Parts: sequence; C-alpha cells; structure tokens
Amino acid sequence: MDSNTNAKWFPVLVQRAGFPLLLGVYAIGLYLMPALGVPLLLGAGVLGFFIEKRLPYHSRWQGIKDDSRLDGAFTVLTMIVSVAVKGGLTLVLAHLSFELRFWPALPLPLSILLALIVSSFGPYVLHRASHEWSDVLWQIHAVHHAPERVYSLNAMRAHPLNAAWNVIAGLGPLLLLGADSQTILIAGGLNNFFSIFNHMNINFRNPLLSVLLNTAELHRWHHSARREYGDSNYSSGALTFWDHAFGTWKLPVQKFAWQDAGLYSGKTFPSQSLSRQLLRPLCRCA
Ligand SMILES: [Zn+2]
Ligand SMILES: [Zn+2]
Repeated sequence: MDSNTNAKWFPVLVQRAGFPLLLGVYAIGLYLMPALGVPLLLGAGVLGFFIEKRLPYHSRWQGIKDDSRLDGAFTVLTMIVSVAVKGGLTLVLAHLSFELRFWPALPLPLSILLALIVSSFGPYVLHRASHEWSDVLWQIHAVHHAPERVYSLNAMRAHPLNAAWNVIAGLGPLLLLGADSQTILIAGGLNNFFSIFNHMNINFRNPLLSVLLNTAELHRWHHSARREYGDSNYSSGALTFWDHAFGTWKLPVQKFAWQDAGLYSGKTFPSQSLSRQLLRPLCRCA
C-alpha cells in the first residue's frame, strides 16, 4: 500500500467510523459516570473541534470569522441560562412536591429511550411553532439561524428565551413524571451531545444512522436558507422520532451548498448586533 493510498484511506475511515466511535465512547462514559456528564461532554466537544479543523464538511465554514464573537457571546449566555433554568426548575418542582411519579419501572436502556422520546416532544413542538406558526417565536429563534455557516459555535447560539424554553420543555416532563436521576442524567447527556455534534462542520457520513439519530448530516439541512429544507428536521436532541411521527424528516442526497446556510427572512434581521437580537422579540429595532 503506497503512501497516497494511506492518505485517502484514513479520512474515509474517520468519515464512516468517527461519529459512531465518538458516540459509543461518550455513551459508555456517561453510563459508567453519569454525574460526570459535563466534563465528558466538554472533552468530546474539544475533540470534535479538532476533527472539525482536519475533516471539514465545507472549508469555507472553517475558522474565526466576523460572526464568531457573537456566537461566543450567545454560547456563554446559553450556558448560564441553561444551568440557571435547570436548577430553578428542579428546586421549584421539589418545593411544590409536584412529582406525579408516573414513570414506569423499566430496565435502564428502555427508560433512557423513553426519556429521549418524552424530552424531545416539547422542544419539537416549540421549534416547529417557531418556524411555521408564530412570528414572535421566529424572531426569538432566528438568532440560531442567523449565521451563514454551520459549525461548532452555532450549537449554543440561541436567544436566552429559546434556551430557557428548551430546558423547561425537555427536562420539565421528566421531572414531573418522576423519572429517576440516572435516566435523566444519561438522556440529558445524550441530548446535549447530539445538539452540539449536529452543528459540527465535520464531514462524517452516516446516512443510515441519520434515519434514527439527529446527526450533523441531517441537521445542517435545517440551517438551509431554502425554506423547503429549513422547515424540516426540527428534532434538537438525540432522536429523530418526532420528525418521523409528524412527517418532517428530510435527508436530501445532494451536498449542502456552503452558501445556502442562513436566514430565509434575513434582510432586516440585525445579524451583527447582540443587543438588537436580544431585544428583537420586544421591538423591531433593526
Ligand atoms: Zn430552527
Ligand atoms: Zn441548529
């Protein structure tokens, strides 16, 4: 085998096996140490960041650009809001003794699967409402679609209200139904893993996995500025379950064109201003 053959063989192996391998290692780590979900996710994210540099889906989407500063600012806001809302929701429900305890006694893998399905229903409905049914929600959610590329720092680029409703709609039902803490930690960790990796600008190719799992291959079509693709694939956690249930799953065979990412109603959106994007739902001060 000459060096040229080797040079082609390795990227193909990473394209095909890299994502299942990363997911498997992360899932095993989460199963063995569910309380260490955040450091495990950070480790996986840093690894993904390096793979993104070596095996990009689009080289034009790489690197630090004008939008990176805003992506970083929204990422910090999202992390603060998510932690605060998770803590607040848990405390409020514990204080109100509001657990219904309807969660069925299942083996852990089935309990996690059920939690992944239950926790993704509310975010799916709100996400779809943002795109198709409510202009107010769209003005909030448009923050996530403003960048004209899909890469790692897009993952947590969201309006604080969008970040808050995703936590409440995802975690709330699990707490209310009385799911056990191991199920909640592992399902939450898997949802977070997918919501980060499905924005990575990595040329992983796993079309069969994308039928069931919310991969980057699938989710980047949701960032299309062409409405026939942007208004599909609303799943934001690990599974594509509700997209199949409601007929919004879509995986075109062609390559996603680098210039097709962004807003389909972007002409008046204040894409360069943090304060105007934050205030956008209250006033159209673009
Ligand atoms: Zn969206
Ligand atoms: Zn996205």
